Formats: sequence, C-alpha cells, structure tokens
Amino acid sequence: MKKLFIAGNWKSNKTIAEAKEWAEKISISNGDSTIVIFAPFITLGALHPFPFGLGAQNVSEFPEGAYTGEVNARQIREVADWVIIGHSERRKYFNEADDMLQKKVDQAKKVGLKIIYCVPDDATIVPPGVDVVAYEPVWAIGTGKTDSPENAQAVVATIKAKTQVATAIYGGSVTPENVASFVSAPAIDGVLPGGASLDPEKFAALLRNVR
Ligand code: PEP
Repeated sequence: MKKLFIAGNWKSNKTIAEAKEWAEKISISNGDSTIVIFAPFITLGALHPFPFGLGAQNVSEFPEGAYTGEVNARQIREVADWVIIGHSERRKYFNEADDMLQKKVDQAKKVGLKIIYCVPDDATIVPPGVDVVAYEPVWAIGTGKTDSPENAQAVVATIKAKTQVATAIYGGSVTPENVASFVSAPAIDGVLPGGASLDPEKFAALLRNVR
C-alpha cells in the first residue's frame, strides 16, 4: 500500500488557544500516512508538542535582516519541518510570481525546510528540489467543486513525469466524503484539504476515510 501524505492547510484561521484546542481534540492514528498541519506562524510554537508534522504556509524570499514584517526560513526551521510555497491564494492576493517563488524555494532549501509546491495545472513551472507538488485547480479551492479523480490523476501523472518529483497530491474541496476517490488514483499520493482540516472531527473523519 502506498504511503499517503495528508496536509491540512488552516490558512489564516485560528488563534493560539484555538490551535491548541484543535490539537487536544484530535486523535491522530493513521498508520503509515504522513500528516502535516500547515498552521499560522503564531501557532506553530504551541503545536510543537503534538504528534503530527508542522509546516508554515509562507516563507520570506529574503534572508534574515531588515525586512520588516517578514518571517524568514531560519526562523521557521526552529518550529517546523515543512513550508507551502506557491499557493494560489499567495499568487493571487500577494502577487507572488515564478521569480519570487524561486527565491522562496532557495531560502527554504538553504535551511533544510521541506517544500510543498502548489501549481494550478501541469503547465506551471516547478522549481527543482521541491519535495511534494500539490495540484490545486484554482476553481476548486474553497468552492465545494472538485476536479474529477480521473482528470486529477492525469494531471498529477504529467506533473510527476515532467518534474521528477516523486510525491504529488491533490487539493481543492477535499472532504471526508470524497477523499478516498482521490487517494485511490494510482498517481495521487495524498491530499491537501483546507476547509476540511479546520474542524478536528471532520479532519479525523477524513483521515479515517483515506483507507
Ligand atoms: C487549500 O487550502 O489549498 C484548499 C484546497 O482549500 P479547500 O480544501 O478549502 O478547497
């Protein structure tokens, strides 16, 4: 059986107290799946003691220094192993384009952060050295509409062939009800749920339903 990668993206949700409450409520017992929660920066320290992987949702394109408001890769590395780069919400609302995203990948790699790199299709550039590619069609993010498992399988297979990245996952309105249809596609190694990761019971149901 393939090892699945399940990544919850909390986006800009949860205070420190709410993050701890989520972590205390959830019981993660999902065999050999890798489970990583991509939580807001301010909550990462508080989530450290809990038994799931941690990631940041963004990283500065700059190193340490005079870049007011930025959180750099070395700071993230102290509290997390992973980072998401290239999420469509960053591309859309913060004008993050390929050249900036390449700089973010470079910063993350320098300190050994593992990278999920998000792309909306199989034509978008994937910088070398990323660990996981997430195929996330923009129209499926937060809309309740999903790609078909057959098309997601085809896009993910093309991305893997083009990039040589071994692990590729699907994101876009994944729920406990539809998760099995995606992870049973041969090329799809896991999922990146956003909305369905916010409620601990819903996320636990999603974890149960991947098998
Ligand atoms: C995401 O956060 O990348 C995402 C796909 O969100 P949602 O599951 O809510 O569509």
